[in-house]
Amino acid sequence: MTVSVFKLPLSMLCFRTILTRLKSVRAAAKVKTWFLTMAIATPVYAIDLYDETTGQLTIAQVMVGDTKYSDVIVTIAELVSGPSGDYPYVEGQFGPRPDTYDLKKQQLIIPAVKVGSTVFKDVVVQIAEVLSPSPLSEVVADAGFNGEIYPDDFKLFVADDLPDEVARAYREHLQFAADLWGNFGPLEVWIMGSDSDALTRQHEQWCQQRLSWGIGFKSIECERQRSNNYWPLGDYLDIATQALESGRPMQNACRCGMGQYGFHLMMASAPWGFFKDSPFADWSGDGFDLTPAHEYWHILHFSHLSNKDEVGNRRGGNADPTLSGPDWFIEGSAVYMANVALTKQILSGYVSVHGKLTSECFECEMRAQMTRGLEARSQNQGLKLGDFSYEVGRDAIYGLGAWGIAWLYNHVDNDRVLIDSMFPNLQTKGWDASFQDSFGLTPNQFYDEFEKFLDLPYSEQVKILPIDADGKYTE
Ligand SMILES: [Zn+2]
Repeated sequence: MTVSVFKLPLSMLCFRTILTRLKSVRAAAKVKTWFLTMAIATPVYAIDLYDETTGQLTIAQVMVGDTKYSDVIVTIAELVSGPSGDYPYVEGQFGPRPDTYDLKKQQLIIPAVKVGSTVFKDVVVQIAEVLSPSPLSEVVADAGFNGEIYPDDFKLFVADDLPDEVARAYREHLQFAADLWGNFGPLEVWIMGSDSDALTRQHEQWCQQRLSWGIGFKSIECERQRSNNYWPLGDYLDIATQALESGRPMQNACRCGMGQYGFHLMMASAPWGFFKDSPFADWSGDGFDLTPAHEYWHILHFSHLSNKDEVGNRRGGNADPTLSGPDWFIEGSAVYMANVALTKQILSGYVSVHGKLTSECFECEMRAQMTRGLEARSQNQGLKLGDFSYEVGRDAIYGLGAWGIAWLYNHVDNDRVLIDSMFPNLQTKGWDASFQDSFGLTPNQFYDEFEKFLDLPYSEQVKILPIDADGKYTE
């Protein structure tokens, strides 16, 4: 997680001073006794609490591998990085995302910590001393399937027949999204080209990677995959070869499960928009693409669902909609958030691998999604947002889904609500209850309200978007 792009806010400087000051004046033994008494009386909070007077941190929950520890009290040796920002504390608005203990670096990754009435996000510290003698612990889902920030970066595997700039462009787009929303994983990203010899080599690499990863994969499965069009990689080569044959720049990508092996998989066919030299006579991209952030959002979403229970991230990575949410919610949030991420990337002055800048198109992308969604709606008269699916009125789950998310964010005036509070509650509360807690209305009440909104003219609809009078994106 790179947080150095953020400026250190003034209030966090105070936090840093407090950490340093209290470290030097604390009488550890005395504090320990006092805190053991306190621990019994401390109510369970959804987020960590830092006590300015004692210099002690009460960790609500922390993941160490696949084990979750609760109510751990520690002292802090050093602030390593962060925060990414600070917010006024609002009950129920943060967490319960667990901290992550990075065993390699021996660092504690804290998604949110409350200090007084302020919440600081994305703080990394080195622990000085653990004061809880035997905190409660339980073995839960594999690392990366409990909604926790994952300490290691994603791994990118790009077919060797693709031009060099493709790997760079994909990495830069994905890293921007990970920096913006947090690092979730363990994530492998496999991008296939169009050359069958390259696919053979890439599949060898895949097999080595699976065997070295060591969870539930046997070398005989490699044999089977070879005779099955190099599954799961081969289908993505087919998309690229079909595109080249037809002269149409088709491409596809997926969040492709693999929860049963304890990792998240993203696959993509040749991302033509990242090619400096387009193989198509009448089409070329500019090096900007919504797809990496869209798929990464899916990874983030499904990182909150256990890979060990019956209805979470089951074999193949499918989750029960009672946990993950319905199709419109899965795709609509990905469309909307990818639009936010690419817009912020463009506004940050990102120069594409083509050496180009571009202007943001947040509102025009949303306009296109509305057109696409309304078309599907008019072809399926009488259906509401919750009735559409991958099978019925497919474009509506993307187009109207994105507007559904925009409506909900506007309704609570908070565009961090999914990451900060709704997703971390999915596994324990389920989608319906988490939805109601986050937005203050039931899904059915929302679908009815949203119907009225869809009947408004676009000039009214556009008012819910975070844009200024000139139609430009505002935070
Ligand atoms: Zn999607």
